[in-house]
Amino acid sequence: MRPFRPEPLTDFSKEENVKAIRAALENAKRNFGKRYPIIINGKEYTTDKVFKSFNPAHKDEVIGEFYAAGEREADLAIESAWKAFDLWKNFPAEERAGFLFKAAEILRRRRFEIAAWMVYEVGKNWVEADADVAEAIDYLDYYAHQMLEYAGNRPLAHIYGENNEYFYIPLGVVVVIPPWNFPLAILTGMTVAAVVTGNTVILKPASDSPMMGYLFMDVMREAGLPDGVINFLPGSGGSLGGYLVKHPKVRMIAFTGSRDVGVWIYEEAAKVRPGQKWLKRVIAEMGGKDAIIVDNDIDEKDIPFIANQIVVSAYGYQGQKCSAASRLIIVEEVYDKILSAVLEETKRIEIGDPAEGKFMGPVINESSERKILNYIEIGRSEGKLVFGGEKLRGGIYDEGYYIQPTIFTEVPPNARIAQEEIFGPVLSVIKAKDFDEALKIANDTDYGLTGSVFTRNREKIYRAKCDFHVGNLYINRKCTGAIVGVHPFGGFNMSGTDAKAGGPDYLLYFLQGKTVSERL
Ligand code: NAP
Repeated sequence: MRPFRPEPLTDFSKEENVKAIRAALENAKRNFGKRYPIIINGKEYTTDKVFKSFNPAHKDEVIGEFYAAGEREADLAIESAWKAFDLWKNFPAEERAGFLFKAAEILRRRRFEIAAWMVYEVGKNWVEADADVAEAIDYLDYYAHQMLEYAGNRPLAHIYGENNEYFYIPLGVVVVIPPWNFPLAILTGMTVAAVVTGNTVILKPASDSPMMGYLFMDVMREAGLPDGVINFLPGSGGSLGGYLVKHPKVRMIAFTGSRDVGVWIYEEAAKVRPGQKWLKRVIAEMGGKDAIIVDNDIDEKDIPFIANQIVVSAYGYQGQKCSAASRLIIVEEVYDKILSAVLEETKRIEIGDPAEGKFMGPVINESSERKILNYIEIGRSEGKLVFGGEKLRGGIYDEGYYIQPTIFTEVPPNARIAQEEIFGPVLSVIKAKDFDEALKIANDTDYGLTGSVFTRNREKIYRAKCDFHVGNLYINRKCTGAIVGVHPFGGFNMSGTDAKAGGPDYLLYFLQGKTVSERL
């Protein structure tokens, strides 16, 4: 078996790749508007409730229609998942891993097809969509490798007259609740971590990206995964999601999404309900208010690179990444130079239909657009608007939810736009008198997900390493783009449980240890 290596990204400067993605986009478009079922124990189900997945770049375009599951389907899925668990938990780890290796290979083959659907469903550009599929491949490959490490007995000390064994077993039925912003990668990561460790899954995709969930199911079916191991239940977060979270027969919840929903799930899962025989386990990976610090100890010649890294961190996928830079903290000595370089770089951003390969596309939906524009209004009274600040209008912009990349300066560190997650293309710039103050400002939020520091001073790098309280700290590079197996990912404080997705400890969350002691 070859060792794990992160999947290389597609090079879109090559004509053959441009042709391939364009062909895949055309093909996806020809298949818009179909209706997709609920899948429980390998069987397809319909209900009398249907919801639509829309293209945020052309808001009237329906990608697909999905039957919404309700409580009846949830009960059936949980019962089926427990039946499947009885068989699946005893599959050897090597066989379970084998399904993931196969699925990774299938995804490699279907890479352009699935990236194209993602471009349409959530408004990612080609590069971002391709990276999302690559990340999903990495999760499959990496967790399969990891499972092989966890299989078998763990080493123990020996005592005379006894044989002792310690090994891991799965938990049971896991409910997986992913977000729409990494609609394939995160969905795949949480689901296959549960599956490869021997659990069975109820997968409730985000309502803005159910097509990604359906395509994932299709890949797992093609890989030959036994029926009932993953059950696909599209439906409303509030009602179906809430019902699943509270259900006494659910053993674990793996959630990635907003702080409000994550906190609610954490609280509800802690309540022991009639018929429940365990304390539910919860992974809740939540939001961020990520900061980039630019120190005075930088090389002048690095400024264009630094500005580029800031802009990519702030506006990549329209700022809709939990890792996106939403605060830029600049030490005053270099403030003017950095700000003007960032403004120059921001002006160069191309905004348009992501299906045409533009860097910046629309935000996900109308309510998100409203929320971001509302924060921009708040920002006008809290700071000084120096770039953007408007919804784009006219031509194709009227067809989608396009917002200009926006920069506020003179933002007080405790302003709402410097404290609350906006989840859109809005950057708050804060001036600090020195590195110490910059670090203090960076740490002064409820969150602690990602952060970057640009400095050439080794002592300051060391201080950031010790004192910048984030789960993923980057030095002299952007704060987005974590790679599975390379940058285990997860945040501190209100950024969540810090399960470190894509890291060597992640699978342990889905396992419990068993000790067997035999007197000889
Ligand atoms: P969200 O609104 O919290 O939704 C996430 C998922 O939870 C969706 O599947 C949603 O279903 C479901 N849901 C909503 N209410 C629920 C409830 N009461 N019970 C059970 N499930 C419920 O978040 P989002 O807008 O999809 O994603 C953006 C957020 O995710 C941001 O805050 C971002 O920072 C965070 N995020 C964090 C990480 C990380 O690793 N820390 C990674 C990516 C994203 P519906 O879609 O049907 O409402």
